[in-house]
Amino acid sequence: MSRGASLRDVAFYLRGRLTKQLTRLASARDRTPPVVPVPVDEVIRGSRAPLALVRLLEGRSNADRESAVARYLRARAVPFALHRFASGEGSGENFGVDLGAGERVLLLVAHHDAVPGSPGANDNAAAVGILLSLIERLAAAPPPKLRLRFLFTAAEERAYLGARHYARETYVGELVGVLSLELCGIGDSVVIWDAADETPFLRTVSAALESIGLARDTSYHVVGRIPMFGSDHRAFAALGVPAYGFTLVPSANAEALRQFVWSPVRGALRHLIRRPVPFDTYHTPRDRGSTLEATAVALALRALEAVIAAVP
Ligand SMILES: [Zn+2]
Repeated sequence: MSRGASLRDVAFYLRGRLTKQLTRLASARDRTPPVVPVPVDEVIRGSRAPLALVRLLEGRSNADRESAVARYLRARAVPFALHRFASGEGSGENFGVDLGAGERVLLLVAHHDAVPGSPGANDNAAAVGILLSLIERLAAAPPPKLRLRFLFTAAEERAYLGARHYARETYVGELVGVLSLELCGIGDSVVIWDAADETPFLRTVSAALESIGLARDTSYHVVGRIPMFGSDHRAFAALGVPAYGFTLVPSANAEALRQFVWSPVRGALRHLIRRPVPFDTYHTPRDRGSTLEATAVALALRALEAVIAAVP
C-alpha cells in the first residue's frame, strides 16, 4: 500500500470515528423505548414477506440475531454452509446458501449483526429479510447456468470482519460479482456504490436496472467510493472481485444525501439533529421495523431479480 493510500485510510478511519461519536451522542439523548423482539418461532411460522422477516432480527442482541438466522434456515429446510471464524478482532458465524448450478457464482451479501443499542431494522434486518424471501422465491426455479450464493455475515459493523474472514478462507475465483445489501428498507431509488471503475459486472447491473424501467441518475444511481460508509463488499473488492454496495434511498433527498455522504463530518454536524433519511435512524435506537417501507423492499427484490436474470 502506498503512503498516500495509508494516510487516506487513516483519515477515513478518524472521520468514521468522529461520526460514530456524534451518532453515540445523538443516541444517548434518545428516549425511544427499546424494541421488544417477537419470539423467533412466531416469525418462522409467520409470513415470508421481507418486512415480516425483519422481525427475525429486530431488537435482538447480535448473538441472538446470528442464531435466529440459522434457526430460520433449519426450520425452512434450507441447506446452508456454516462458516465460523474467530480471531483477535472477534468471532462469529457466516451462513451461505447456494442455489442453482454452474461454475460461476453471483454473491449477494447481507450482514446479520447490528450496532449495539440499535434495533437494526434498516441496518440490516431489511436486507436479510429480502435475501431470505428471495431464496424462497428462487428455490423452485433457480437460474440454469448461474449459481447464486446468499451470504449472511457476522460482525460487519466491526470493519467487515465476518466478510473478511470469508473472503480469505473461501475460493473467490468463481465469483462474477458481489452485491452487499445495506439499508434496503427505505426509499424509492437504488444506489450502486463504491463503483468507481467500469466492469462487465457493473454494466450488467446497470442494464438490469434499466430493464425494469429505472433511469440512471433519477431512479437509480451509480456512485464511486464513498469515504465513510463501507460494507462487506469491500472485503471482496480488496481481492479484485467486482463488488459493490446496494442501497435504497429516497430520491427526494438525493442532494442532502450527496452532501451527507461526501462530507460526512460537515454533513453530520449540520445534520446532527436532523440527518437526511435514511441516515436519520442509522445506528440509532430509532432504526425500527415501523420505519420501513413495503414499496422499498419490493423495489429491492425486483432489482435483484433483474440482476440475477441479466448475468450472462
Ligand atoms: Zn450495515
